[in-house]
Amino acid sequence: MASRRQPGTGTSWTWCGCSSSSPSICGARAFPRNKLDEKRPDAGLAALSRHWIVRSLACRCPRCGIGALFEGYLKPVAACSHCGLEIARNDSGDGPAVFLIFILGFLVVPAALIVEFTWSPPIWVHVVVWPLLVGGLIALLLRPSKSLVIAIQYRNRPADFG
Ligand SMILES: [Zn+2]
Repeated sequence: MASRRQPGTGTSWTWCGCSSSSPSICGARAFPRNKLDEKRPDAGLAALSRHWIVRSLACRCPRCGIGALFEGYLKPVAACSHCGLEIARNDSGDGPAVFLIFILGFLVVPAALIVEFTWSPPIWVHVVVWPLLVGGLIALLLRPSKSLVIAIQYRNRPADFG
């Protein structure tokens, strides 16, 4: 007996399964190109949020998602090489480092206390393990968190970027 499928339940490559009629948030144009997010009336807020967060975590330009955001490890480029967005004017400075200090402190200090009260290792274990763990996490997370803060600044005050 042939089954009758509801639209969207098949395996067609043209159907993404989302309820939106906009192809830009489902298919090949998942990342907007050369357009301000605010000028895309066809995209829902949730899709835009997902996209700019993905773009920022990939350390790409918050507007086009193509140009690199940094030259070197943490220095923002003067302007996006693709769309010309002036990024260095809105460098987030030390803000992301402060956020990471609070977040990692909230996570690592209880972990150190749990390790101490559970296994009571020698003090040199704490002296070696926790600074290495925190330093490694900061080195790993500082760049995407700085990119995320710049993207948040861009979303809230796009006129400041020129
Ligand atoms: Zn750009």
